[in-house]
Amino acid sequence: MAAPWEDVLRNEAAVQEAARVAVDAALLAGVLMRTEGEPNASDVVNYAPFTLLPSAVPSALFEQAYAVQQDFNLLVDAISQNKEFLERTLASTIKVDDFTARLFRIYMQVLEEGLAQSVFLGINRSDYMFDCGVDGTPALKQIEINTIAASFGGLTSRTAAVHGQVLKVLGKSEEASRLLPNNPSKGLALGIAKAWERYGSPSAVVMFLVEEVQRNIFDQRCVENELWNRNIRVVRRRFRDVFEKGSLDDARRLYMDGQEVAVVYYREGYVPKNYDQQNWEARLLLERSRAVKCPDIATQLAGTKKVQQELSQPGTLEKLLPGHTEAVARIRATFAGLYSLDVGEEGDKIAAMAIADPDRFVLKPQREGGGNNLYGEELRQVLEKIRDSPERTSYILMDKIKPQPAMNYLLRAHSPLQVSECISELGIFGVYVRQGKEMVMNTAAGHLLRTKAIEHADGGVAAGVAVLDTPYLV
Ligand code: ADP
Ligand code: MG
Repeated sequence: MAAPWEDVLRNEAAVQEAARVAVDAALLAGVLMRTEGEPNASDVVNYAPFTLLPSAVPSALFEQAYAVQQDFNLLVDAISQNKEFLERTLASTIKVDDFTARLFRIYMQVLEEGLAQSVFLGINRSDYMFDCGVDGTPALKQIEINTIAASFGGLTSRTAAVHGQVLKVLGKSEEASRLLPNNPSKGLALGIAKAWERYGSPSAVVMFLVEEVQRNIFDQRCVENELWNRNIRVVRRRFRDVFEKGSLDDARRLYMDGQEVAVVYYREGYVPKNYDQQNWEARLLLERSRAVKCPDIATQLAGTKKVQQELSQPGTLEKLLPGHTEAVARIRATFAGLYSLDVGEEGDKIAAMAIADPDRFVLKPQREGGGNNLYGEELRQVLEKIRDSPERTSYILMDKIKPQPAMNYLLRAHSPLQVSECISELGIFGVYVRQGKEMVMNTAAGHLLRTKAIEHADGGVAAGVAVLDTPYLV
């Protein structure tokens, strides 16, 4: 899997020069983030962290990841419409995990009232690592699928150009010309635009539901700008604004400041800290409305780790996607081993297996956003403590994926340039729109490659661990 940059990595002067070019190219291209010190002002910005060099990705696995994305879109959509499945799968989790329980309560409440929403928009990102088998052959293994607030589709639309320039500076024009164009922000916007159009009210706006702290605003602006270019109005609001100024009319149309909202695109609302009592009320108001939520609460629940684990059980995919034999096979081929820690004999056995050999596994709670998983000695200690308590059912266990590391330089503002041993995670963006029973759009909308130094077990770009990258197919 080695990329042809071995010669470059040893040439310190060339690396220094290329890094200077890279940083300026990133700033010029708009690979930007607000700073930690001033997370809500655009007066001071810096480049988002990225690799100096594109990382090698096996082309067969890259194609496999694209080829299975429409299947995953269908699957997530099917789960979101299957009350019986969600109820049964999350039954043990919601007894012990308060956050999932609250989301689930809203889900049930909305169903009891009857859905006002009839157009559905899914934007997800399925993430993978390349597991290195005993014979050294890499295999595509899904880490998770993100069904809410999947980010970096905007900034990553601009990284290929930066890496292309770096390669040219390093005398590798031929390789530069082989980098693939990639524009998830356009694909995401096409989905939002389609949902907006199907909603059918030309004066209604698209509302980006955003966090209080908005360091990653430029990533979102990339998508916003694509919508403005199509003459669709975009407003940015927080849960707090919805609580104060949101309302529903008799037909449960959503209004913000007197303006009808056609689509609510959540870039917030995926972790407990996003919610206080008022924000929960705002979430309920949005979910009850006729507006297209991306995602609706059912689709958010479809992205929980517990659902992911249940999908790996024999027969589950076949039940969720009847008649889709080939799609089921493509999906299953990407699954790593996933295990339930539910109370019972089977769960006892799994817990004992993990405690005996913690380095083989990852222990995952029902959380998003990076930095929550447990590994190695810590996994062992935590699992030992909770092995006889129902608390253990708030976690799932997963086989640890072991990719082949490669050397690269990670460029971060205010950090010295040094070479690191790195591993990468490939994400494919999926976008789909359903109106009633009819799928009116189902696409793979681009990719994201994130790379991190191997000493970090966990964490994404927003968490300050991984950096943006571009795949170099080998
Ligand atoms: P989150 O919802 O917090 O993003 P993930 O399941 O994506 O949770 O895990 C976070 C990070 O932990 C991943 O980006 C990856 O680096 C690492 N990780 C997760 N699962 C595994 C696994 N099975 N094997 C190896 N690393 C993993
Ligand atoms: Mg993740």
